[in-house]
Amino acid sequence: MNCPDCQSHKVVKNGHRQGKQSYLGRECSLQFRENPCPKSYSTEVKKLCVKMSLNGMGF
Ligand SMILES: [Zn+2]
Repeated sequence: MNCPDCQSHKVVKNGHRQGKQSYLGRECSLQFRENPCPKSYSTEVKKLCVKMSLNGMGF
């Protein structure tokens, strides 16, 4: 598990949010969740989803 923002490996578990494991990046203090996109999406869509999530656009 890497931080989606700075790609650091230094992440710690930060409880659960809406039934999903939440993490906290130690380097940048970013809070993020595991598997931000549904698993049913294709790899390409997932990449796009992550990209959009990082841009704060969401769906
Ligand atoms: Zn980070």
